[in-house]
Amino acid sequence: MRPFHYSRPASMAEALLEMRDVLATDAQSSAAFLAGGTTLLDLMKLDVVRPERVIDLGAMREEFDFIRLEGSTLRLGAFATMAAVAAHPDVVRLYPVIAQSLSLAASAQLRNMASLGGNVLQRTRCAYFRDPSWDACNKRVPGSGCAAVDGANRMHAVLGTSDHCIATYPGDFAQALLALDASVAIAGPRGSRTIPFAALHRLPGDTPDRETSLAAGEIITEFVVPAAEWTRRSLYLKIRDRQSYEFAVASVAVALDLDGATVRQARIALGGLASVPWRAHAAEEALRGSDLTEETARAAAGEAFAGAVPQSHNAFKIALGQSTLVRGLMHAASMEIPG
Ligand SMILES: Cc1cc2nc3c(=O)[nH]c(=O)nc-3n(C[C@H](O)[C@H](O)[C@H](O)COP(=O)(O)OP(=O)(O)OC[C@H]3O[C@@H](n4cnc5c(N)ncnc54)[C@H](O)[C@@H]3O)c2cc1C
Ligand code: SF4
Repeated sequence: MRPFHYSRPASMAEALLEMRDVLATDAQSSAAFLAGGTTLLDLMKLDVVRPERVIDLGAMREEFDFIRLEGSTLRLGAFATMAAVAAHPDVVRLYPVIAQSLSLAASAQLRNMASLGGNVLQRTRCAYFRDPSWDACNKRVPGSGCAAVDGANRMHAVLGTSDHCIATYPGDFAQALLALDASVAIAGPRGSRTIPFAALHRLPGDTPDRETSLAAGEIITEFVVPAAEWTRRSLYLKIRDRQSYEFAVASVAVALDLDGATVRQARIALGGLASVPWRAHAAEEALRGSDLTEETARAAAGEAFAGAVPQSHNAFKIALGQSTLVRGLMHAASMEIPG
């Protein structure tokens, strides 16, 4: 690992002040925030990211490690651990898709260490990105090409890709937030703001190195999830190469509001299949007002993948993604919701 300057500010105000000073001194300075460290330290050891300064946000747990149900709104501090949120009784009961997306992710040790904010900002698992001995990776070195296009791309994305990058967004929790119309609170050297979660991740386009809409020095402080008719009838279904401690090959976050068998509203997000957490709006529209049967679910799944672009080794993901979505919808429809 390369040498770096380490600091641990005692408060959010101090962290933002430090970042402001870093940016004012040298706008190009490669400073990185450290939360649980389970992504950042891996990538530093692999020499993929090379921050000159590491600003440890550990002290933020004091203020932003919380799980609160306020009226009909769930508020999750960005420094709450994955494990704590996955096991919280209110989350399990009222927002099952959130609890399941977290408990099906990573390992128990990682979930104990990792924060929600770090989780949504984790980087792709594309092997060419994670190994600097490969020259061609537009995400790691802008303008260098993409080794995955003609390489091993079985795990890569079929939705939202570009000629410049076909990497998959690897996380699970993000799909739950996206399906439930969550928003993200952000603090930065220039003030605070709140954006829809859907606006956090950027499609790769011709700048795959720019993965989010966060400005330099901004810190995620909180996720806000509104309660709605569909939050309790929600689930996360994750298909992977082995049953634990593995990233998704395909996953779905589904939330349904039903009137008998008729779909009033469906909320659907796809994981393991796209460059960013992927909302399947066309599938939601196809279901609205229909009776939910295998047939209508299959038709909606077809809509969800209408624009899919397979690579040389991952065409199977289109069929797998569709059947995962059908299964997710049928499971959600059959859930018993206690009064
Ligand atoms: C072997 C392995 C298997 C895994 N399997 C899965 C899986 O199946 N599903 C899944 O979802 N994840 C999986 N993960 C990823 C894991 O969940 C993430 O590494 C973890 O959630 C990151 O959280 P962290 O707090 O450790 O982040 P860190 O490593 O500290 O930070 C990650 C990134 O986010 C930035 N950051 C962190 N917090 C903030 C904040 N509040 N504001 C702004 N920037 C911030 C950091 O600067 C860094 O760039 C796996 C990881 C490993 C190592
Ligand atoms: S898919 Fe993206 S991350 Fe992977 S090699 Fe290509 S540019 Fe790099």
